[in-house]
Amino acid sequence: MSTATITHIVGARPNFMKAAPVLTALRAHDVAQRLVHTGQHYDALLSDVFFAELDLPAPDVNLGVGSGTQATQTAALLTGLEAAFTEVDPGLVVVYGDVNSTLAAALVAAKLGLRLAHVEAGLRSFDPTMPEEVNRRVTDALADLLLATSPEAIAHLAREGVEAGRIHLVGNPMIDSLVAARGRLDPDGERRRLGLPERYAVATLHRPANVDDPGQARRVVAALAEVGEAVEVLLPLHPRGRAALAEAGLDDAAGVRVVEPLGYVPFLSLVAGSALVVTDSGGVQEETTILDVACLTLRESTERPITLTHGTNRLVSAATLPDAAAAVLEGRAAFPTERPPLWDGRAGERIAALLAAEAAAGS
Ligand code: UDP
Repeated sequence: MSTATITHIVGARPNFMKAAPVLTALRAHDVAQRLVHTGQHYDALLSDVFFAELDLPAPDVNLGVGSGTQATQTAALLTGLEAAFTEVDPGLVVVYGDVNSTLAAALVAAKLGLRLAHVEAGLRSFDPTMPEEVNRRVTDALADLLLATSPEAIAHLAREGVEAGRIHLVGNPMIDSLVAARGRLDPDGERRRLGLPERYAVATLHRPANVDDPGQARRVVAALAEVGEAVEVLLPLHPRGRAALAEAGLDDAAGVRVVEPLGYVPFLSLVAGSALVVTDSGGVQEETTILDVACLTLRESTERPITLTHGTNRLVSAATLPDAAAAVLEGRAAFPTERPPLWDGRAGERIAALLAAEAAAGS
């Protein structure tokens, strides 16, 4: 009986930092692995740059799917992945996070009768309007092996009827990438390169709830502009929503400096050196918790509540952001000191051991 190949599916920026530690750790096991890039993100600044920085091998296949509406993109992903999985037996399929590539690979794997592992299983925002929430729920319903980054995810999966034997708390591979990059972070150098003052904030914005509705986009831009009056705000802006935020008056916000999306090490360097982060990203809520930087998350809910109870995260609205930012900048904000269990830089090793055992077991 031979061991099945392990095929990793990545497609968008937040997948790369989660997959890299797993691919690296699997090199210590006697198992073949393949990397399929769907091309959901194809921009050099959202994709290529991370392969070099995270020591990811070049993908074995790139499906070049590109962007589109939820339906057109998902349809293209389904067709491309089905063809790829039919051409070369993928063995055990591993998907990461909650992007459309995650959902599409899960569906195709299930229909072809392939075994499926989901890294970052069980996160729930309980906000059904988020495309990511739909992706998470469907992926978890189809997965054979569910690898959770935090304890509350296990409770969600148990409530949804997933057998305990298929769920494993493994820690957070995104934090492995952060730990591996830590020695390369250069907060002062990056700050000077961009001509930022010693005290500055970093912001990221791309969620549909903030950028798709013109009224909300205007409120968000006005709130960010108010923060920018107290401290210069650097906003490496995702292409998603760029036009909507410009329409909402971003160019007139004097204290907000918009730049292109940054590479991983430059971005984390600037976050590490910042006085404050404002974001609607999923991963940035986790990274700030480990970098000990206050994070104000512009959302009504988070699928990562552990960053509220064991980290530096706080949920804000456009209305409450300016006061919350002032509290952080004036040293009036206090955060829990305990950190999430197993966010220790070794999640990739735990995941690799489970995947290697699964690949050996069912072939
Ligand atoms: N990130 C980056 N450059 C940037 C902004 C973010 O490298 O200009 C990284 C960030 O450190 C994190 C990941 O991108 O590791 C988060 O991706 P994103 O916010 O696109 O996705 P989400 O986490 O919201 O799914």
